[in-house]
Amino acid sequence: MGMIIDLRHVALTYQSPDGEVEALRDVSFSMEEGEFCSIVGPSGCGKSTTLSLIAGLEKLSSGSISIDGEAVSAPSPKIGLMPQRDQLFEWKNIWDNVTLGLAIRHQNTPEQQAHVRELLERYGLLGFARKRPGQLSGGMRQRCALIRTLATNPRILLLDEPFSALDYQTRLSVSADIYRIIRQEHKTALLVTHDIAEAISMSDRVITLSGRPATVKAIHDMGELRTLSPLARRDTPEFHTFFNAIWKELDINA
Ligand code: ADP
Ligand code: MG
Repeated sequence: MGMIIDLRHVALTYQSPDGEVEALRDVSFSMEEGEFCSIVGPSGCGKSTTLSLIAGLEKLSSGSISIDGEAVSAPSPKIGLMPQRDQLFEWKNIWDNVTLGLAIRHQNTPEQQAHVRELLERYGLLGFARKRPGQLSGGMRQRCALIRTLATNPRILLLDEPFSALDYQTRLSVSADIYRIIRQEHKTALLVTHDIAEAISMSDRVITLSGRPATVKAIHDMGELRTLSPLARRDTPEFHTFFNAIWKELDINA
């Protein structure tokens, strides 16, 4: 079976000036091409660390991570990381912001620019290309950040709490929006969130982590919910069943 992402017994202990921090103890899971998975877990348990390792930005202490069967040793063009803050530059216009990744990689070719133009048009932002980020709504900014990540054509998207700066109502519509874009573009996506409802509404599977040092507690398959849109899922009895199971597992009140 061709697993696009495969983590086996991944552990990472950070060496810091104040001593060692054991962030991950034993994290194993794998993802198929085109799958959408979420990671939920308590604050500080090692979720961002897991994404950094997959992205090749940190070195693991033990275990293994492979992408397309090859061990991860450095950042790969196959992977696009969408950080917690949208990190748009306020003094640059939207076009310059979304083509920034291409410019850094010296890929700002006419073909790539045509691809970005098409993405902006498809997702309702072409008319804003000459505007500054400050002139856009929170949801539009988030779409720009995603288009910037998509511009370099990664097959895998790693999203680190991308909606945490948005208010609840905006969050609902923006997450539905981002879900639709990721599906339409046929990407493999791994989302980190502390919002259980968001994880259930967007993913094929939800991976729960224990408190630090992180181990995988369970992997929940969303089953029938997979075929529904994020908003439609929230109206089903299965949604509440998953919510309660994951809530108990995370032991939020402990
Ligand atoms: P999460 O994203 O789940 O909130 P992180 O992966 O950011 O958690 O961090 C996990 C743990 O590792 C935390 O205790 C954090 O303080 C620690 N940590 C993160 N990055 C570093 C680092 N570069 N050096 C030392 N400790 C770190
Ligand atoms: Mg984090």
